[in-house]
Amino acid sequence: MMRILVTGGAGFLGSHLCERLLHEGHEVIALDDLSTGSRANVAHLLRSRRFSLVEHDVTNPYDFAVQRIYNLASPASPPQYQRDPVRTTMINVIGTRNALDLGRRHRARVLQASTSEVYGDPEVHPQPESYRGSVDSTGLRACYDEGKRCAESLVMDYKRKCFVDVRLPRIFNTYGPRMDPEDGRVVSNFIVQALGGEDLTVYGDGSQTRSFCYVDDLIDGLVRLMEHAEDPGPMNLGNPAEMTVLELAEEIRKLTKSQSQILFHPLPEGDPKQRRPVIDKARATLGFEPRVPLQKGLRRTIESFAAHAVGKRPARGSRLATA
Ligand code: UDP
Repeated sequence: MMRILVTGGAGFLGSHLCERLLHEGHEVIALDDLSTGSRANVAHLLRSRRFSLVEHDVTNPYDFAVQRIYNLASPASPPQYQRDPVRTTMINVIGTRNALDLGRRHRARVLQASTSEVYGDPEVHPQPESYRGSVDSTGLRACYDEGKRCAESLVMDYKRKCFVDVRLPRIFNTYGPRMDPEDGRVVSNFIVQALGGEDLTVYGDGSQTRSFCYVDDLIDGLVRLMEHAEDPGPMNLGNPAEMTVLELAEEIRKLTKSQSQILFHPLPEGDPKQRRPVIDKARATLGFEPRVPLQKGLRRTIESFAAHAVGKRPARGSRLATA
């Protein structure tokens, strides 16, 4: 049993991770400023004496005597991270430095949640870890992409110079229960819209692709990587099953038996055209294998959204896209 810190622990991925770690018998501290996460995401965990939620902004230093640090704190959906882009960069740079400093102080292992966004709008398809990416450093996504790229460089420098034991997953699109229905991501938007009988907002012509991983599979990959005996370097985690955004819209319409129409909106600036992880390294090193097929994962997500009466309010994307 270990004492584990999860920054961003009240967010979508963070709350699932805390749940999994508690289930394994660990003591878990979730650190979150609740700017994009919510207390509701971890309300069911607060009953455990081994769980605590600390409201704190990761750009300010903090101290906990822990053995593992999962650094997940950052806004992650494009509308959220573009709302205050300077802060997004700072969370990823200063927040990551604070996590690494804590790791150095307590000799704790640090897992930094990186992202497929480090590949930008990729010219190599699918994306292996060796691909160095195509990021527009002056574009609307730069605050997140470059923030996460700088975080990767900090991780490697703390490893080389300060001997911090690090892990560096690159997380591809993930979905599941407890996604924020209002954060503007494609899976949550489409489900909210379909359940509420609104038009589904497809950006561009919907031919851009993504590869969607169910949250339980992704969390399993994070834990496997953290507990792997040595640092295997940057590692893609996700599900390589690729589809177009239009196909996703049609799938969600079918599963919700929705009468909603598809409405085409302008494509946001810098929107990557294609994205699919090469996960050979995670398969070979960690025995990682995504197991939940899209239909099953979407069904669970739809059920959870319906149970929380989501769809009674408009999806954020529909407002942003028409703004
Ligand atoms: N998207 C869409 N409609 C929406 C929200 C997103 O067509 O209501 C598209 C978006 O333009 C992108 C893809 O879906 O091509 C995935 O968007 P998301 O914001 O979920 O994540 P990203 O992978 O772009 O960070």
